[in-house]
Amino acid sequence: MRELLSVKDMNFTKDAKVFIRCDFNVPMDEYRNITDDRRIRSAIATIRYCLDEGCSVILASHLGRPKEGFEDKLSLEPVSKRLSRLLQREVKFVKDVVGEQASEAVDTLKAGEILLLDNLRFEKGETKNDALFAKKLASYGTYYVNDAFGVCHRAHASVEAITKFYDDEHKAAGFLLQKEIAFAQNLIKRPARPFVAVVGGSKVSGKLQALKNLLPKIDKLIIGGGMAFTFLKALGYDIGNSLLEENLIDDALKILNKGKELGVKIYLPVDAIAAPTCSQDSVMKYVTAQEIPNGWMGLDIGPATVVLFKEAIDDAQTIWWNGPMGVFEIDKFARGSFRISHAIAESPATTVVGGGDTADVVERAGDTDEITFISTGGGASLELIEGKELPGVKVLLKKEED
Ligand code: AMP
Repeated sequence: MRELLSVKDMNFTKDAKVFIRCDFNVPMDEYRNITDDRRIRSAIATIRYCLDEGCSVILASHLGRPKEGFEDKLSLEPVSKRLSRLLQREVKFVKDVVGEQASEAVDTLKAGEILLLDNLRFEKGETKNDALFAKKLASYGTYYVNDAFGVCHRAHASVEAITKFYDDEHKAAGFLLQKEIAFAQNLIKRPARPFVAVVGGSKVSGKLQALKNLLPKIDKLIIGGGMAFTFLKALGYDIGNSLLEENLIDDALKILNKGKELGVKIYLPVDAIAAPTCSQDSVMKYVTAQEIPNGWMGLDIGPATVVLFKEAIDDAQTIWWNGPMGVFEIDKFARGSFRISHAIAESPATTVVGGGDTADVVERAGDTDEITFISTGGGASLELIEGKELPGVKVLLKKEED
């Protein structure tokens, strides 16, 4: 892939205004407290850099999926407060995106000041990649910086259409975006070996393409979570009521065979924590993968699988992890994911975690500081691993030199 245009190479004119597309799509509780501000903290390097260059910054982001215009619970106001606390300076906020209030706030913004617009998706044009909407956003800043890795796999107005209004001297990728791309690329191109991929989560379908793309590049593949049962079924096991994607049994078998052909060691669970229902007060028992009772489902990997997976991870030099090992949201079925998180965290390997759920597991397990890199974008990080070109990244690549 060609190199990205970098914010570091921008020659800002005096008192310039910079429009920064951030990813402030953070989780909040019912009181609208931000429960995880990692995405806000990750944007700070780029914001600080632009401010230190003497610019004023206009920040924009989406939050959740508003249905029709403004929704109080999806306003970015709590983000402006948290950002202000993190930066220890004022962050102006307008409950507006492209209306008069926003325009006025931008016009009166002085050098060194920060303005946050409200949720971009309150405007229909954002997800439609609408050129007129993008043009209005582009009128706010002489420079455009994209630091929103989490949405780069979407051709949305503030990510894709907007870049058409800037030449290569006036648009660039922020530091977070550059870091995300660099980590994913190094992982695929130059992994230290053994390179182990650990995948889990609910569905094979969501990760099928990534698995196909990864297989020729890795040394070991560890499969846990709900998706493992489609593989176990493909091997002829009785999996009770466990999660199954019947239409993917063939694909699962192909992956297992391809692994053999390529000499990739593939590990599947050998036991599970099974329960008749997926709830905290359900009865549960430890069973081998071959003895899941009729009507029961496997909801976490069992202790023998933890030992097996840990042993397989033991000599890894690079580990990529995407997808929990069980229904970690329910305490009873969280243990397997936590123990694998600890094992990955303790490994001396370069460890890269992708996916919101997996980042959440690592956080809850208290392992965040021990992981080399935790991607801020679930879907986007998966698409990079699948080898796809992200629409938001493609438009920020340097032109090919003759
Ligand atoms: P994904 O979005 O495909 O990465 O899936 C994440 C979800 O998979 C989490 O919400 C987990 O609760 C769920 N999950 C993990 N293991 C299982 C399992 N054995 N059965 C059902 N769901 C699972």
